[in-house]
Amino acid sequence: MRILLVEDDPLVSDAIVRGLATAGYAVDAVTDAESVQVHLDAAHYDLAIVDLGLPGEDGFTLVHRLRREGSSLPLLIVTARDGLDDRINALDLGADDYLVKPFALPELAARCRALIRRATAAANEMVVGRLRIDLAGRRAINDDRRALELTRREWSILECLAHHSGRVVSKERLIQAIGSWDEEISGNAIEVHVSRLRAKLGEAATVRSIRGLGYRLDDA
Ligand code: CA
Repeated sequence: MRILLVEDDPLVSDAIVRGLATAGYAVDAVTDAESVQVHLDAAHYDLAIVDLGLPGEDGFTLVHRLRREGSSLPLLIVTARDGLDDRINALDLGADDYLVKPFALPELAARCRALIRRATAAANEMVVGRLRIDLAGRRAINDDRRALELTRREWSILECLAHHSGRVVSKERLIQAIGSWDEEISGNAIEVHVSRLRAKLGEAATVRSIRGLGYRLDDA
């Protein structure tokens, strides 16, 4: 799952990027609202985290503009302003949730999970075939009740497919889900990760290749 972070404070930004990477997210960080559109045009994001106090266009205006333009991207506000009016204002303009700084990174990660889950109408725990996928615990359990040993990228691919279970996910979308701008991931690399993931899934569930379109997670 890929997150766009809009935060001008480099220390806060670095901490969030590192914290969310540990939680398994690919994060692209920008420092102003003006850089947001370029990113949204170039990649699929599952969530944006927006700081309210930004140089130039502020977070309120950004949220308002995105919603006016019809974007349904989940928006999480992070703000040092603990004023009640600011929080109400941000939510009324179209933000989905907020967190007041300073916050604990595990809480930020949990809120990201909750918002993405809500947006994709996914449950915290999903069953596909004989595979149980625990999104919060970041593990997949087969019918031997054994947690599969997946690499970070294999998990990210499974997570993205599970959020769109039964539907086709393009290779491009998977590339975007598992890597930020800093990581070059090729289509061939995706094929390698998918084939290793398939081997680990065994007969519990199947990742089907849909020629020319992408991949789909199916019951085995
Ligand atoms: Ca700021």
